[in-house]
Amino acid sequence: MDFLRPTTWEEALAAKADRPDAVPIQGGTDVMVEINMDVRRPAALLDLNQVTELREWAMVGGTCRVGAAVPYARIIDELGGPLPGLAQAARTVGSPQIRNRGSVGGNLGAASPAGDSHPPLLAAGAVVEVDSRERGVRMIPADEFYLGVKRSALEPDELIRAVHVRPATGPQYFSKVGTRNAMVIAVCSFAIALHPDERRVGTGIGSAAPTPRRALEAEELLARELDWTAPLDPALTRRFGELCAAAAAPIDDVRGKAAYRVHAIGVMARRTLAWAWNDHLGKRAA
Ligand SMILES: Cc1cc2nc3c(=O)[nH]c(=O)nc-3n(C[C@H](O)[C@H](O)[C@H](O)COP(=O)(O)OP(=O)(O)OC[C@H]3O[C@@H](n4cnc5c(N)ncnc54)[C@H](O)[C@@H]3O)c2cc1C
Repeated sequence: MDFLRPTTWEEALAAKADRPDAVPIQGGTDVMVEINMDVRRPAALLDLNQVTELREWAMVGGTCRVGAAVPYARIIDELGGPLPGLAQAARTVGSPQIRNRGSVGGNLGAASPAGDSHPPLLAAGAVVEVDSRERGVRMIPADEFYLGVKRSALEPDELIRAVHVRPATGPQYFSKVGTRNAMVIAVCSFAIALHPDERRVGTGIGSAAPTPRRALEAEELLARELDWTAPLDPALTRRFGELCAAAAAPIDDVRGKAAYRVHAIGVMARRTLAWAWNDHLGKRAA
């Protein structure tokens, strides 16, 4: 196995262009498990750990640009204010060791339907920045990034450079059902983001379809019928839960039954909407 170790982004893009078969490795919390378990034996590994710019985040033109390698631990410590949904999801990932190594870039690279960063990225309307030597930068909205089970819009010569997320303008929540409280891959998960400035509510469903996805009809319902100054209408909340559940398309697997996942998505959708709405009204009253 060849081991490629670029020290700059340009070297990394050149290495990927010359060796599209090289598997990028960042925190290694997915890649090393696959190698150790003999799930795959790549001809080459492309180690991105020397490309220090990937570990930086910055506010760029009013948007938070999070380098692909910023680990979950730093998202929790440093970005809980502007990106509360993503930070909440990060808190549920693995263990402290995994959160110190694992990154959102790696979660996107793996594109597992159960990845915890996907629902909050979808709900917040995030955009993934990918780059290649031949075609340059592409900005891919999160809801166009996931194409199938562990398949994304990333081309073989491309690398993920960053993810761009607008700082929250309203409450955000992430909810995850697991078979225990820690070190657990989601049975299913749900994220919500209120965007009061746009009179819009964003959603993200995890581990309940071949890809992470938004509940579009549920979002449209709230865009049409929410009164942003009034308490939540229980009938509207119920309908929102039903439409979120209907947007799921899960399977039975070792972690859970499809019927349970559909039910749980409906419950989490209602709960997170109520939590977010309480915060929203509390803030208005303050
Ligand atoms: C014990 C354990 C518990 C876990 N718990 C959770 C959990 O609760 N929730 C969860 O979502 N995940 C969990 N995971 C999975 C893993 O930690 C996450 O998916 C993490 O985000 C991967 O990040 P990484 O930097 O380690 O990625 P890596 O393992 O380095 O890479 C993951 C994938 O992304 C690709 N990749 C990495 N960087 C780039 C890049 N810049 N451009 C293009 N492709 C790239 C790699 O080639 C690979 O396909 C767990 C893993 C373990 C071992």
